[in-house]
Amino acid sequence: MEKKNMDWSNLGFGYQVTDKRFVSNYKNGAWDDGVMTEDATITMSECAGVLQYAQTCFEGLKAYTTEDGRTVCFRPDLNAARMKDSCERLRMPVFPEERFVEAVKEVVRANEAFVPPYGSGATLYIRPYMFGSSPVIGVKPADEYQFRIFATPVGPYFKGGVKPITIRVCDYDRAAPHGTGHIKAGLNYAMSLYQIVDAHEQGFDENMYLDPGTRTYVEETGGANFIFISKDGSTMITPKSDSILPSITRRSLMVVAEKYLGMKVEHRQVRFDELKDFSECGLCGTAAVISPVGKVVDHGNEICFPSGMDDMGPVTKKLYETLTGIQMGRIEAPEGWIVEI
Ligand SMILES: *Cc1c(COP(=O)(O)O)cnc(C)c1O
Repeated sequence: MEKKNMDWSNLGFGYQVTDKRFVSNYKNGAWDDGVMTEDATITMSECAGVLQYAQTCFEGLKAYTTEDGRTVCFRPDLNAARMKDSCERLRMPVFPEERFVEAVKEVVRANEAFVPPYGSGATLYIRPYMFGSSPVIGVKPADEYQFRIFATPVGPYFKGGVKPITIRVCDYDRAAPHGTGHIKAGLNYAMSLYQIVDAHEQGFDENMYLDPGTRTYVEETGGANFIFISKDGSTMITPKSDSILPSITRRSLMVVAEKYLGMKVEHRQVRFDELKDFSECGLCGTAAVISPVGKVVDHGNEICFPSGMDDMGPVTKKLYETLTGIQMGRIEAPEGWIVEI
């Protein structure tokens, strides 16, 4: 298929309308068959559940071209399973997991011309999401829902090379104890906007959130999980908490560290005061895979990782190169990780 004529390497990380999207409606207790449509707009009641009480959740994954020219996406079954968990927590109907994966494939196929070529660093970002569409005024779940998937091409996350970032410890929380931090709900992001704008105004790239109950343990940032490397480089440590969103990138890196790099992996509570004992720190998520963190600032007190502010640390780099190698088809993937479109 002929690709769109785009300057792939210079695409930004923004929304760009593509040709087709998937839409399915839930009504009278059942999902319809769903259709592909060219209509990129939504018309709904002014009193829709999503507009009044934020009943909505989403997912995010990428489709891309491998070295040998296949169009693939990465572990979409885990996105389907995570969306199921989000829906159940928000009293929304689950879109069946196999149908979710099929619909993702259908959207990529219909927008094949927007899948960036191998080597460009760009990818086709896929956004599945669901929202309550019927009117709700007394507080309760909506009766009707819409599930949609659109795709939009996005540029390489790191333009002109990877640079370690500086983050700050945030005084606000992103999630309550026993709240919704573990699901991918839009409401978690609404709650983080004040803090991220403030962080940027103060010259920081991201917020580090501590556990909302005791503010003793490290949780995550607004949209990425943490990984840390022990001083001797032998161990990857990643925080465990009921209010962290279970990142698919982080779960994949745990496998890469153990099975591909022969490292030890610790998935456990991480006290903030342990940070000084680590040699490297990274943020992981679909968008960047891993962003190296060079410095954490806690109210003027700086924790500088030995990996420094110039480059990704050596172990983080190995993790990054192995996982992206698996994704791009240069390194053999575990069974089921790479799904061909
Ligand atoms: C989506 C998200 C992540 C990253 O998850 P991936 O599956 O790796 O993309 C991390 N934290 C939060 C809060 C998220 O919403």
